[in-house]
Amino acid sequence: MFPLNGGCHMKFLLTALCCMVVLLSVWIKRARKSEGELKKPIVHLLWLAIFTVIAQGVFFICDSNITATVAIGFYYAGIDWLLIVMLSYVEAYTRIFRGSRAAKTVVYGLAVLDSLNFILNIFIGHIFVVSQHVYKDGYAGWSVSRATPSFTFHLVFTYTLVAFCAMALAVKAVKTPAFYRRKYLIVLILFLTVVLLNGICKLAKSPYDISVFLYCMLGIQISHYSLFYKPKGLIDSTLALVVADINDAVFCFDLWGKCVYTNKMVEEYFGRDTRVDIVNSVFEEKIREYSRGEQESIQYKVQLETDGKLRFFNVSYHKLIDKKQCYIGCFFTLRDRTEEIEKFKEEHHRVTHDKLTGLFNREYFFDAVEKLMAVNPDVKYTMVCSNIKGFKLYNELFGEKMGDEVLKMEAELLERDAVEGTVYGRISGDEFAILVPTKLFRAEKFIKNINQMKEHFNNSQYQMHIYVGVYEIDDRAESVSVMCDKAKLAIESHRGDYNAVVTYYDKKLLEKSLYERKIVGEFDRALEQGEFCMFLQPQIASDGRLLGAEALVRWQHPERGLVFPGDFIGVFEKTGLIYRLDRYMWELAADKLREWKEQGREDLYISVNISAKDFYYIDLYSELTNLTEKYGIAPKNLKLEITETVLMTEMQNQTELLERLRRYGFQIEIDDFGSGYSSLNMLKNIDVDVVKIDMGFLDKTERVERGTSILNSIILLIKNLGMGVITEGVETKEQVDSLMGMGCHMFQGYYFDKPMPIEVFEEKYR
Ligand code: C2E
Ligand code: CA
Ligand code: CA
Repeated sequence: MFPLNGGCHMKFLLTALCCMVVLLSVWIKRARKSEGELKKPIVHLLWLAIFTVIAQGVFFICDSNITATVAIGFYYAGIDWLLIVMLSYVEAYTRIFRGSRAAKTVVYGLAVLDSLNFILNIFIGHIFVVSQHVYKDGYAGWSVSRATPSFTFHLVFTYTLVAFCAMALAVKAVKTPAFYRRKYLIVLILFLTVVLLNGICKLAKSPYDISVFLYCMLGIQISHYSLFYKPKGLIDSTLALVVADINDAVFCFDLWGKCVYTNKMVEEYFGRDTRVDIVNSVFEEKIREYSRGEQESIQYKVQLETDGKLRFFNVSYHKLIDKKQCYIGCFFTLRDRTEEIEKFKEEHHRVTHDKLTGLFNREYFFDAVEKLMAVNPDVKYTMVCSNIKGFKLYNELFGEKMGDEVLKMEAELLERDAVEGTVYGRISGDEFAILVPTKLFRAEKFIKNINQMKEHFNNSQYQMHIYVGVYEIDDRAESVSVMCDKAKLAIESHRGDYNAVVTYYDKKLLEKSLYERKIVGEFDRALEQGEFCMFLQPQIASDGRLLGAEALVRWQHPERGLVFPGDFIGVFEKTGLIYRLDRYMWELAADKLREWKEQGREDLYISVNISAKDFYYIDLYSELTNLTEKYGIAPKNLKLEITETVLMTEMQNQTELLERLRRYGFQIEIDDFGSGYSSLNMLKNIDVDVVKIDMGFLDKTERVERGTSILNSIILLIKNLGMGVITEGVETKEQVDSLMGMGCHMFQGYYFDKPMPIEVFEEKYR
């Protein structure tokens, strides 16, 4: 098969068609890799384009009449299907119509009919016949002649499809926003150009029908525009809009550092007038610096004052580089983070500070201490903690609002005196803590502040006591919480001494605290196992007669041996265990009295100690009365020793209870008269049977003669008030003689006997 006659145009045409086939194959491959609903119609379009190219190619080069008839018949039929695929492409591309199933069936039906017609034509030639024609340039090619009405059907069908496609594209181009118009116009223009050129070729009756060539070009162009083309103008406009509307301020600079564009936000942040200054002051230097550098984008933060308000910005710098890697300018985006930062700061403050006083809260104080110590490894630090004694009581008495005032004032004073290099905070309800470089710590400052607070808050109902514990940190590795605990432990050692406002931690305190914890843990066992036992110390009349005895507890400890009450009573009082021990001791005493009663020694009494704390924990009246009933003893034989501090602080509440106990028949004795707060006044207001004076207290505080004279007046007063008086701690004969001279005739003390186990006591005094 070779052209009958070769003209150079003919060769050119053939070569072009071959190239076309190759080109189309390549595009089919590309199109198949793409995504989306356009992929299918486009691939079909390209396949049909190949089909028609080959059909026309064969038509050009064949030398038999029948082959030419078949080829051109296929070509025409191919055009039918090409246009149908074009239509489904337009449907997907424009989405302005949706071919119904019926319409599609009709169109496909007509195409099938037309195609069959062309096949039939091969045999009966009812549409066209082909004949050879020699053209001027010597080319002998095939031409189609004798087109019949059946050919007209083909033309009407195909041009209807063409019209439909063109219309759909045109309507879409008009309807779509100007922004996207181009996308449809390009396809429409291409399509119409092809149709037009095709028509021209037909009319010109050129032997070289280039319409197939045009269809191929159309297919490729359409594929390109639909699948791969990204309209730069469209993108540019889109980006410009995005930039204009973006919430960041955008500044663009040209190669020479001149600001060529700013968006709306720039105006909003900086105002129209200040813009130039801002631009110059903020970016000039940065542009110079960054444009010389290698980095293509750089992020940094700035604070700028805009409209008198300080704003925080995240700045992002970007170099603009052209395709040849040349620097052509840059742009900056500024994101306003003021609100975010302020919110963060607020939130941070909220979670790290105490709401009431504004000081650091516990957790943050701990953090701050750790940080401060970490950055100053060579500084020696001291942890100071303060605590208000009975703050709960204050709240109850005067209300929480007043309580808050106390805390606020304490915080203010702390803040006022805080020197640089310290951190402080409120670490719990009424506890404040401060970490201070040891060489800057001044105890006087704290004492002064505490006195100021006392002056402010003390009244007739309430005496404020604030204590400060000081721990010179010797182990930096321990946790801040432990440091605070140690300072607080120092506070514990204030107990009893109201004047020691500032106390220092030492290792013994920790040992003591550990010891206390240990014995508290052992208490239940000890009570159950009967490790607590009763020692008796005789009370003697001036004529040497035994009057009775004081019951004093001893702890027969399995490991530590005999433990004296001084080592544990205080701890049990502090931890609320004392009432259980006391109740146990009273029972031992009552049992012993029952025994003595049975032995006919009803004249002897036993004095038991009643701790101040017992008044809180138990119903003393029913406890004690039940006891006498249970053991069938006379209440007067169970003397009750109550320390004078109970009567001092709980006077109102307790006088009535004591009165009831006395009415029941118990003898009440004021213990330790002359210790801390002895008040002669108190004696007038309370009725007790006996007052017990401790020699030890007197000796310690006064010179001998003065002590003796005070003792003398006290004894006189007690006797005048009609109460009995007993002196304890009597160690010498002189003391006994002198006391007898003063009118005291009852004694207890080492001079007579030490406290002793019951068996020993009974042995000795029977
Ligand atoms: P207290 O009630 O004042 O008991 C008197 C303390 O003085 C006893 O110490 C006793 O041994 C001691 N003593 C007696 N005569 C002399 C003396 O001539 N010179 C000196 N220097 N001391 C003398 P003890 O037995 O060690 O008791 C200490 C404190 O423990 C008691 O002081 C009391 O407050 C408390 N206590 C003892 N037993 C009990 C108890 O069963 N319950 C409660 N709540 N407290 C108790
Ligand atoms: Ca006592
Ligand atoms: Ca005593």
